[in-house]
Amino acid sequence: MIIVLSQKASGQEKDSLRRDLEKRGFEIHESQGKTTTIWGLVGDTSSITEDELLAYDSVKTVRRIKEAYKLANREAKPEDTVVEVSGRKIGGGYFQVIAGPCSIESQTQITEVAESIRQAGAGLLRGGAFKPRTSPYSFQGLREDGLQLLLEAKKATGLPIVTEIMRPDAIPLFEEVDVIQVGARNMQNFELLKELGKLRKPILLKRGLANTLDELLMSAEYIMAGGNSQVILCERGIRTFETSMRNTLDISAIPMLKKKSHLPVVVDPSHAAGLRFMVEPLALAAVAAGADGLMIEVHNDPARALCDGPQSLTPAMFSELMDKVKKLLPLSGKQMEQGE
Ligand code: PEP
Ligand code: MN
Repeated sequence: MIIVLSQKASGQEKDSLRRDLEKRGFEIHESQGKTTTIWGLVGDTSSITEDELLAYDSVKTVRRIKEAYKLANREAKPEDTVVEVSGRKIGGGYFQVIAGPCSIESQTQITEVAESIRQAGAGLLRGGAFKPRTSPYSFQGLREDGLQLLLEAKKATGLPIVTEIMRPDAIPLFEEVDVIQVGARNMQNFELLKELGKLRKPILLKRGLANTLDELLMSAEYIMAGGNSQVILCERGIRTFETSMRNTLDISAIPMLKKKSHLPVVVDPSHAAGLRFMVEPLALAAVAAGADGLMIEVHNDPARALCDGPQSLTPAMFSELMDKVKKLLPLSGKQMEQGE
């Protein structure tokens, strides 16, 4: 349930309403806009009527939200959420490109790729240390050693880093990681999401291979319900009957997610396509459709990559893509911010 407070409501009136609602067991999540204050009421809202709330002078309007996600709902917060990562903003007109290899393989590999994507204008560096692989015999990532190499690349380039977590007990290892990624396969690992909700750190939440947009938003809600409101959604392609590509990029997800939610939406065309030649057209389509950012896999030697070589761009291809993205961005009304 959403309560829009009257602009004339005094601090005292708001406090008294807050006390009454908390006494009835509700939790209040406040969204303070430029002119309007909105309260999202979380709890068993079937036990309260609109009329009971409208009886307070401090209440202007009340709306029942039918969707089960309340905090992620655009109705609870009409303005776009801007997630800030070391001075780099994503959402609300700010666009970021996250780039880097699928997995961290060696010091030379990650430092070379990091430097090349920085020069091309990427804002954040990605690289997997803990890899969720379909086969237990595939490369599983360099794990703790990989994280260490990623942190060194962060230091060398000044780029904030994004890397995937797979289990709650690994959280202490991610202290110096700027954005924690929840991969498609863990989108509904609810125990992991609950633990990430306790952090005050941005979370990049990827859509599951066969999950609906409402399911993605419910997973975001798990993180937000814990008090962590810095969630970035990521469309990365879904399973369809088509088999010529690894997945099918759901372009429609971009405007629909932005209608349903205030959270920033990033698109990963690399995992959607699984094929290098499709990464650029899909990336540009995502920008045109209103994405707030891109996540692109880049490798200095794709043919020898230990993971996802066929979809990895070379640094030169990435740089060309960046030039096109920069030209297209003004048309979508967004700007790229590189931080200080
Ligand atoms: C990744 O980004 O490294 C990854 C494994 O992607 P996804 O979870 O979308 O498959
Ligand atoms: Mn990958």
